[in-house]
Amino acid sequence: MDKDYQEEQFAGITKFTPPLYKQRYQFVKDLVEKHKPKKVADLGCADCTLLWMLKCCSCIEVLAGLDVCATVMKENMHRLAPLPGDYLQPPERSLTVTLHHGSVAHKDPCMLGFDLVTCIELIEHLEESELKKFPEVVFGFMAPSIVVITTPNSEFNPLLPGVILSRHPDHKFEWSRAQFESWALETARSYDYSVEFTGVGDPPTGMENVGFCTQIGVFVRKCPQTIESAQSEKPAEAVYQTVFRAVYPSLKDEKYLQSAVVNEVIFTAQTIKQSLLDHLMSEPEEYSDDLAEGELEFQPSMNCFPEDLGTLVVENSMEPFVTGNVVYIPLTTIFSFPRVNELCGTFEKLCELIAGRVTLSSDGSAVVLSAEYENE
Ligand code: SAH
Repeated sequence: MDKDYQEEQFAGITKFTPPLYKQRYQFVKDLVEKHKPKKVADLGCADCTLLWMLKCCSCIEVLAGLDVCATVMKENMHRLAPLPGDYLQPPERSLTVTLHHGSVAHKDPCMLGFDLVTCIELIEHLEESELKKFPEVVFGFMAPSIVVITTPNSEFNPLLPGVILSRHPDHKFEWSRAQFESWALETARSYDYSVEFTGVGDPPTGMENVGFCTQIGVFVRKCPQTIESAQSEKPAEAVYQTVFRAVYPSLKDEKYLQSAVVNEVIFTAQTIKQSLLDHLMSEPEEYSDDLAEGELEFQPSMNCFPEDLGTLVVENSMEPFVTGNVVYIPLTTIFSFPRVNELCGTFEKLCELIAGRVTLSSDGSAVVLSAEYENE
């Protein structure tokens, strides 16, 4: 791992703010925000920091990491697991995060179908034989829409005190801009991609001719990939080992949708009940005459709801009412609340999701609550 190696060690002469590794990750995040890929793979993911940052991008549904060193991945992979808060209010989007142990020199079907593949400070760690296979695996086999490759720009090295041969003992090479660009252009040409060059880590004033500290190539596939072409080269065997897999809670999963709907229905029913009871308490003379003690008959008009509540409710034929100690809140009223409506989509789905989980009237048309005040 060479994260921040150079910039921390050489603070004083060349100090990057934010640190260079954060600038590289931010570059990827900006690219994700721009292109909205659904499936993203990070090759040479090391301690999973980039994956951890990317899991917050709401467009991403599948995140995968690959590294040849299982130990470095395992040290921090727990950060990729869902948190208690993720279960409390599951979002609509689904998210699966998987970590694989293996090499970018080998093809594995689990790496097919990605929209974006990132290789951050990876290629300079590859042996010559691995680097030779890399383009065929990433561009030929995985063939994502976009590939991002970052690598040190050796022309910047004289500005990093203490760097003689390379920035990190595990680097097998460090390329000048001309070397990287020639490799990248040849790779792009061979696999029908276009490539654009940029970088992060600005050189100091007056030294602009050395270029960025980290050089970046952004490759974009020229032809859209069809499902057939994605599957045509599928190797028979999986060679990577899966070391971690987390499936995040999502409303796309029926069990989370069901609890969200049940919670929302109960909350909505309680709110309506409270409104009704408040109204009854404020105007008791309207209905107390003919009723036996403790019995309340009430057909509320819309204006018995507080203003904000009333505006949320659309027109209904049947309205909530109180009889004796029981409040009836028609399901049609509850369904007309935007959040319930949005969650269920149809009235039939609402009925199906709450069946057996919310107390209903004998004909199943209304939620039944006790008329007691909650705090009593
Ligand atoms: N992308 C990370 C780590 C860069 S260091 C970051 O930006 O901080 C390079 C990483 O590539 C290391 O974790 C190393 O174990 C991994 N690596 C080296 N050779 C590899 C190979 N052949 N296949 C997959 N990962 C490899």
